[in-house]
Amino acid sequence: MAPLRPDQEAYRAIYKELVETNTTLSAGSCTLAAERMAAHLRAAGFADKELTLFAVPEHPKEGGLVAVLQGSSPTAKPLLLLGHLDVVEAKREDWTRDPFVLVEEDGYFYARGAADMKAMDAVWVDALMRFRQGGYHPKRTIKLALTCGEETTHAFNGAEWLAKNRPELISAEFALNEGGGGRTDGHGKLVVEAIQVGEKAVQNYRLETVNAGGHSSIPVRDNAIYQLADALARLRDFEFPLRLSETTRAFFARAGAARTDALGRAMVALAKNPDDAAAEAIVSKDRSYHSMLRTTCVATLLEGGHANNALPQRAAANVNCRIFPGETVEGTRAALEAAVGDPGVKVTLVPPVRPLAMPPPLDPRVIGPAEALVAKYFPGVPLVPTMSTGATDGIFLEAIGIPVYGAPGGWGDPDGNGVHGLNERRSVRSVYVGRDFLTDLVRAYADAD
Ligand SMILES: [Zn+2]
Repeated sequence: MAPLRPDQEAYRAIYKELVETNTTLSAGSCTLAAERMAAHLRAAGFADKELTLFAVPEHPKEGGLVAVLQGSSPTAKPLLLLGHLDVVEAKREDWTRDPFVLVEEDGYFYARGAADMKAMDAVWVDALMRFRQGGYHPKRTIKLALTCGEETTHAFNGAEWLAKNRPELISAEFALNEGGGGRTDGHGKLVVEAIQVGEKAVQNYRLETVNAGGHSSIPVRDNAIYQLADALARLRDFEFPLRLSETTRAFFARAGAARTDALGRAMVALAKNPDDAAAEAIVSKDRSYHSMLRTTCVATLLEGGHANNALPQRAAANVNCRIFPGETVEGTRAALEAAVGDPGVKVTLVPPVRPLAMPPPLDPRVIGPAEALVAKYFPGVPLVPTMSTGATDGIFLEAIGIPVYGAPGGWGDPDGNGVHGLNERRSVRSVYVGRDFLTDLVRAYADAD
């Protein structure tokens, strides 16, 4: 690899500092990471009034930062760059290298957060610094929100807090976030780039049965555990109806056309005609595509009974649902009840109740510049819109009317690069090329009307 340019050295230092600032919930501090990023922005010329550090007293280490680079246009609405600072827990003894030291080895950066998502966080900070230092005046105001809590369900969530408490601070026409990006063939060759347009919503439900119980030496058929087990068996065999959104229809059409196999042909056929049952059967064999085509609900936790020698008085299961954009939490609960088909099985919501997932539009003013840059940086590589079956902080912004797009640019490998797992890594080329790409993308949007 060519030696780093001075601007790349500067970027690498911010990336390294972020990675080496532990931001796990157990032992780290997002607040410290946010303060360190604010210090860089201040050094680059940002005034205190352009920087908002925030944290709530009950969660002093789960703070974040909002920065604003004012645009010149009185009419163009702001662009928001979103990034989560927190990372999933990582145990030194389980990892090959120290997870909180940025190690560069064999063409990869290794560290917790190297991919998810401190490389992108550092791009956002670095871009704003260089924009300010270079005297660049965007038409559109560029906002940056670095927040904590994306990786945990029950801790403080900074994106949710900003959406609820400081919506004016982050108001924007649309936002760029993680969730997009490229995939290699597993041998370093980039085969596809994706822009994430929408995601499913997570909601947990509790299925519960109760029974008078009694002595296990004189059993009867009517039993809380059997009743629950029967309900779960019916749930296993239940399939939510097929749904296509603008995004997933475009995804299956384009990603299918890029393949040459039977699955590719079935994807194209299904995008054209969602009633094509033969095509659906083929596409649904892929577990990811199966989930992209519908709401899914699956049993994930089980409890029941109170003694080895007693008939159970109670049994319960947690059912984890991934709700298709536009479908409601209550509608999904009703569908579960109908699938179970037993009024003796109570189906209730488990908090937190997430907002309804709203699919952002396939806006050509968003997709167009991304397509142009993919063609420039990665000739011949298609850009496909994807809907995530997982969840990001985007859902909180979409709830207040800010469409969120997972930006293309950097890329990962088919094995998932150890994200959330062991020895997380990001290819060095992906980090530097992704940075150039994202900086150009931000400028393209910021200069547009
Ligand atoms: Zn992430």
